[in-house]
Amino acid sequence: MPLGGTNPGTSRTLTVFRFGAPGARPKVHIQAGLHAEELPGMLAAHYLVGLLRAADQAGHVRGEVQVIPMANPVGLDQFVDERLLGRSALGGGGNFNRHYPDLTERVYERVHDRLSEDPVPNIALIRKALAEAVQADQPRTEIGCLRHTLLRQAITADIVLDLHCDEEAPVHLYLGTPLWPDAQDLARQLGARAVLLAEVSGGEPFDEACSAPWWHLRALVDDRFPIPAACLAATVELRGMADVSDDLAEEDARNLFAFLQRRGAVAGDPGPLPPMQAEATPLAGVDMVAAPDSGILTYRVDLGAAVTAGQIIADITDPLAEDPAGARVPVATVTAGLLWSRAVQRFVRRGDILAKVAGSEPLPGKGRQLLTD
Ligand SMILES: [Zn+2]
Repeated sequence: MPLGGTNPGTSRTLTVFRFGAPGARPKVHIQAGLHAEELPGMLAAHYLVGLLRAADQAGHVRGEVQVIPMANPVGLDQFVDERLLGRSALGGGGNFNRHYPDLTERVYERVHDRLSEDPVPNIALIRKALAEAVQADQPRTEIGCLRHTLLRQAITADIVLDLHCDEEAPVHLYLGTPLWPDAQDLARQLGARAVLLAEVSGGEPFDEACSAPWWHLRALVDDRFPIPAACLAATVELRGMADVSDDLAEEDARNLFAFLQRRGAVAGDPGPLPPMQAEATPLAGVDMVAAPDSGILTYRVDLGAAVTAGQIIADITDPLAEDPAGARVPVATVTAGLLWSRAVQRFVRRGDILAKVAGSEPLPGKGRQLLTD
């Protein structure tokens, strides 16, 4: 697909692999590399395309499955000082996984007087209205066109998996609270170590643009009409930046494929569901541990450690301190839980997030912005 909004003399495209029959259900949308420097998902998508191609040739794809292995050609072009920086649009436009429109109001206007007591026609009606609402948007910038094109592809899907990775992390998921525990099979199949739930995460990420209108609409109609959460959208974090290997990517692709089998998008036996390895915790319970000072970061605990509230997890060292004994500032977490993310860059500035701990209770003073930018 050509991407609109490009400068004169330049052009970009998005490549979509499609399997199964158009219009078949469930419709599955899988994309990777929206943050263009996050490679594990792109490599997993490569292996998944191989599995899906073989399944399709054997007539085993029951639904409609589309895969966009490189969802961000703009970000892939952003090399600075020989490093790929693909998280935010360097030319302006912000974080590539933020600022997706909340379609709820526009869909409500289209459907509110046509809803019924039967959830099945309600789903079809809302899907059509979602597609029309996206279609009506007329983005002007290249980044706007990218967001618009991806959302147009995904908005009518039953399942949307947006593959990302963290800096250093085990597999984890971001999900809308109403999708839990229905999405347990995804967490178990992928071996997720953390599941972070929010109804509204504050950053308007891609997955939420697809899934949240369903429960926002249900709230708008005061539960007078049955509106299921008919789009299981998740941000799937496939470990850390450096976890790029054929073994891991093949394993992730096999697990994604088994999940698609379990959900009826592909025929075949997915095998037994692996045990749950994660506790689902509120995104509002994540302690985003910020650096109290600038300096060189060293950790006292490993990734995946269970930490206690008040535990020192890292130190920040200022090599210029007159007295080396006072050169180290200890950093503590305020919540007990799983330390599921560490920073790659070991020089931190005051305020930089250096670790994330999944606590089981919402933390006070979190406000509405629950994601890092
Ligand atoms: Zn990401």
